[in-house]
Amino acid sequence: MTATRKLAAGNWKMNGTAASLVEIEKLLETHPEPGCEMLICPPATLIAQTAWRCRDKHLKIGGQDCHWESAGAHTGDISAAMLADAGASYVILGHSERRSDHGETDIEVAVKTRAAWGAGLAAVVCVGETERQRDLGTTLVVVGGQLDTSLPEGCTAGNLVVAYEPVWAIGTGRTPTLAEIAEVHDFIRAALERRFGAEGAGVRILYGGSVKPSNAAEIFAVSNVDGALVGGASLKAADFGAIVDALSAA
Ligand code: PEP
Repeated sequence: MTATRKLAAGNWKMNGTAASLVEIEKLLETHPEPGCEMLICPPATLIAQTAWRCRDKHLKIGGQDCHWESAGAHTGDISAAMLADAGASYVILGHSERRSDHGETDIEVAVKTRAAWGAGLAAVVCVGETERQRDLGTTLVVVGGQLDTSLPEGCTAGNLVVAYEPVWAIGTGRTPTLAEIAEVHDFIRAALERRFGAEGAGVRILYGGSVKPSNAAEIFAVSNVDGALVGGASLKAADFGAIVDALSAA
């Protein structure tokens, strides 16, 4: 584990309305002082409300994407500065659903990462192979290439989190073996250290893909797993809270 704190991050994706704020309330009630850093990335419509509610609490709020420019004629997009203004402190970038739904490229992720830093946000940059790429034995080549191009110069332990999310494990209930997770996380750590030195050694590396209360503890025991990026199981405070507990105990 690194000098910075372990991180349990929830990605609500395109889920949640005002009624979902009850889950934030429950999380604040059950985990007022968690043993790890907690982050929820709700849809953009809920960022300001949730961030205001969490302003003096141990629950951070993040966005799920941002534009690379700070303002302008980009209908439907949100800038990093706007996320920060709404109270976000993190932004997820390069999630596989952004890459597949919107054709987002590694270069765009790098430019967005710089934009996030410019607005004072930490970036959670996602990488991961498809099932076909794993079957072809190219997982490390794919992940290495994504890291090379998606991460700009200037990454530090404070401004970057890397999330390893095998695409085939997202929302499917399937996970890699613990040995497979260790292999990729160790590979990512080595790549970060090679490129960013001591800062790379401190960057947190999250595992993401069907993390649940029932498998969290064993995943958190794997080397170079500094937390999780959680989709489905972050929607309910009870499930996410159990994952937070497992990470706090790891
Ligand atoms: C995700 O979307 O980042 C994710 C990991 O989803 P899930 O936990 O539902 O697999």
